[in-house]
Amino acid sequence: MTNLPASLRERLAAEYPLTALKPVDMQISAIDGTRKFLFALSDGNMVESVWMKYKHGNSVCISSQVGCRMGCRFCASTLDGWERNLLPSEMLDQIYAITRITGERVSNVVVMGTGEPLDNYDNLLRFIHLLTDENGLHISQRNVTVSTCGLVPRIRMLADEHLAITLALSLHAATDEKRRELMPVAFKWQLDELMEACAYYVAQTGRRMTFEYALVGGVNDSLEDARRLTALAKPLGAHVNLIPVNPIKERDYRQSDRVQIDAFRLRLEKNGVNATVRREMGRDIDGACGQLRRRHLEG
Ligand code: SAH
Repeated sequence: MTNLPASLRERLAAEYPLTALKPVDMQISAIDGTRKFLFALSDGNMVESVWMKYKHGNSVCISSQVGCRMGCRFCASTLDGWERNLLPSEMLDQIYAITRITGERVSNVVVMGTGEPLDNYDNLLRFIHLLTDENGLHISQRNVTVSTCGLVPRIRMLADEHLAITLALSLHAATDEKRRELMPVAFKWQLDELMEACAYYVAQTGRRMTFEYALVGGVNDSLEDARRLTALAKPLGAHVNLIPVNPIKERDYRQSDRVQIDAFRLRLEKNGVNATVRREMGRDIDGACGQLRRRHLEG
């Protein structure tokens, strides 16, 4: 833009980097039309995003970091560790790029891709404000979900922002012992502290929370586990989202069988806890978080 003074151009280049994402790969599920995107960032790093078509509209799952340092045992995104945080623009651009490519409007955004969003707190908040601003895509806060592995002080900070977003907690186990086997973050904060932070979130925001619970065969899928999960979810009025664990080749976790999954869900429902089994979208296209990126890094 030579119509601008050279000094201003220099300053703009230094202080306002252009961060447009480049699409590198796209997979389309033959089963349900789910699309998985791999984008290159301006520094060459890569992130994944997923586009899902539902009856009520299109949903995009975005990444919040390059890699992740939380170390959850069953998760592919964390195997190579953490590289860097994403900028607010890089989170937003995943949605803009997908809107451009699909030609369809996005109505729901879930921050459930690679990374721990509350480990990139300031950028996440800026992103949420940009995304929901009336001069931006103007997506309602109610249609935004942020998923966390449970960083207790950050859950409390987020509660104090009084946003209308949905907070999803990746719980995955209902005792400290089992949770520590699956999620290193559980060594840092115990379930009682975590549940207190969730109660605070619900009290401050008036929003119902979601507990995500990946069912791992023989690990956390017994009826005793369901009973303990009830004790955590019920006082909070939390909705439980059961996810048949998506096996990754680096670990030997296997899915609970269908009968066990149904029994588990039924037990929760009988106990008065609202529970759904997540439909597995895009099983045929490197479903689990981080798999597409890893394939490119390895290949
Ligand atoms: N760091 C955040 C968000 C990213 S992970 C969090 O932990 O919530 C998004 C969700 O996918 C989390 O619930 C995570 O535990 C789950 N997940 C990761 N790998 C999975 C796998 N192989 N099978 C099923 N769920 C998985």
